[in-house]
Formats: sequence, structure tokens, C-alpha cells
Amino acid sequence: MTRAQIIDGRAAANHLQRQVRDEVRHLKDMHHVTPGLAVVLVGDDPASGIYVRNKSRQSEEVGIASFAHRLPSDLRQSDLLTLIRGLNADERVHGILVQLPLPPQINADEIIDAVHPEKDVDGFHIVNAGRLAVGLRDAMVPCTPLGCLTLLRTQHSELSGLNAVVIGRSNIVGKPMANLLLAEHCTVTIAHSRTRDLPDVCRRADILVAAVGRPEFVRGDWIKPGATVIDVGINRVDAEGGKNRIVGDVAFAEAAEVAGAITPVPGGVGPMTIASLMRNTMVAACLQRGIEPPDL
Ligand code: NAP
Repeated sequence: MTRAQIIDGRAAANHLQRQVRDEVRHLKDMHHVTPGLAVVLVGDDPASGIYVRNKSRQSEEVGIASFAHRLPSDLRQSDLLTLIRGLNADERVHGILVQLPLPPQINADEIIDAVHPEKDVDGFHIVNAGRLAVGLRDAMVPCTPLGCLTLLRTQHSELSGLNAVVIGRSNIVGKPMANLLLAEHCTVTIAHSRTRDLPDVCRRADILVAAVGRPEFVRGDWIKPGATVIDVGINRVDAEGGKNRIVGDVAFAEAAEVAGAITPVPGGVGPMTIASLMRNTMVAACLQRGIEPPDL
């Protein structure tokens, strides 16, 4: 029996997209600014190709100008750096997203570092990671944890004082998630592969965020009754008939019997990631033009 409220990430993402579209219209009408997003794809990885197409399509839906750069898989580091420098200088471009992973001959850290921090709508640049870590409001925050926070706010009018456990310490999800929750005055524990007694650690969480990359890793009896569970995982597993299906990092059916609210996979965190990218691009355009960004 499902006891938990299912957090509808698609509905929340649609709501955020509509808000961004309204703000983009306002920027165009009042300030004659059209936010622009450059998406750079190196190579022909099919999953990355789908992500890039979705990002370009959703940009257009909210009125953001989209500049797609599709480059061959044998591209040289120096050529990619030249492109990034050009995009940094291009006034039509307010956000630059380099789709990861990059081919092995490319040094991803150097590429991320080359993106101007103000245009770093992925929030991966060390300057933005540092701004978030020291609690500055104007940091560009990575899209997935930002989306998770938006979903948490649909469940909790006040996060202050809650015990939050984040499983995973990646720079893309776990660490920025923990910093966002800390900024909301949660008491935050970051768990990882060396954490001892992980089920016990999780049972103390009012908010449990799983960003592990292991299918159905978090079991129902790890969850505190009534907790809010945010499942970031996207794992492809075998299904009947030689097909496959996507599952999260949380054993959903078990967890939904115990949790107060839980995100499904798919349809939870995933849709919020792209909506948050649209939000970041709009905010980046405001900041670059000296306009106070809306609080979305
Ligand atoms: P990652 O870089 O591989 O990090 C995984 C983290 O999980 C690491 O910190 C690792 O600990 C920890 N971990 C691994 N095994 C563990 C264990 N047995 N016990 C406790 N912790 C363990 O992955 P990521 O990029 O953060 O992504 C995490 C998941 O989110 C993946 O499924 C990914 O596909 C998904 N994701 C979804 C979205 C979205 O839009 N929904 C976006 C990004 C990522 P150590 O640091 O000790 O190795």
C-alpha cells in the first residue's frame, strides 16, 4: 500500500517553466534582453544527444534563444577552448552548457574552468561552487540539486532545523545539495561509500536525498516514518522481454509505505533538472544586464 504522497516532478517542472517563460517575456518587453543559452555537445553519445535536444527544445518553449554546437568526437582540447572563449565574449549568450561526459582526450576540468563563472549555468565552475559553499546568494547552483530543493519546498514551508541526510558526495549533486540544505538551516549529514551503519544514519533523516547511482539501493526500513525522500538516481535495469526500465536509487514500493512524501523515478527529479537550467539561464541574463533577478 502506498502511504506516501507522490511528489509530482513533472507538474513542478511545468510550473517553473511557466514562471520562467513569463519572466523571459518581461525581460524582452521591458529591457529588450533575450536570454541565450549555448549548448555544446562533443561526440555522438546517443543519451547526450537526447539531453541536448531536450534542452534546446525547452529553451525555445520558454523564449530563450538556443545556440547548439555539435562537434566531432575527435575534437582537440584547444579547439574546444577557442569555442568556449568565443561564447564567453558573445553578448547574445548568457549561459554556456558543455554536455558531460566529454571524450577522453578532453580535460573536462579545464573546460569547466574556461567557462566564465557568470555564464556557468550548470554551476560547476569552482567560483560558483565556492560562492555556494560560503553562502553567497548570487551563486549559479547546479541544476539537479536546485531542482531537488524546489521539490522539497513544495512539501515543507520551513526546512530550518530538520535533519537532512544526503547519500553521495559528487560535485554535481551530493555536495551542492548538502550546501543548499545547510543554507536552509538543516542539520546536514553527507553519507558516502565509507559511511558506517548507513541504514541507521538514514533512519535519523527527516529529509533523505539519495544520489548514489545504484538501483534501489535505499530500502524501506532505512526510512524514518513520515520522512521526505528525494530520489536523484537514474539507473537502467533489465526488464521482461529483453527490454529495460529506469529505476531510482530508492526501492520505491517499500519506501512509499514508510515515507511521508517521495519522488518517483521517472517523473520526479529528472524533469526539474532541465526546468532549473532554464531558470539559471534567465537569472544569468538578468545578472549580466544589471537587472535584479526574480526569486524563483
Ligand atoms: P557519482 O559521481 O557516481 O557519485 C555517487 C556517490 O554515491 C559517491 O559519492 C559515492 O561515494 C556514493 N556511493 C556509491 N556507493 C555507495 C554505497 N554503497 N554507500 C554509500 N554511498 C555510496 O554520481 P552522481 O553524478 O552524483 O549521480 C548520482 C545518481 O544521480 C546517478 O544515478 C545519476 O544518474 C543520477 N543523476 C540524476 C540527475 C537527474 O537529473 N535526475 C542528474 C545527475 C545525476 P564515494 O564518494 O565514497 O565514492
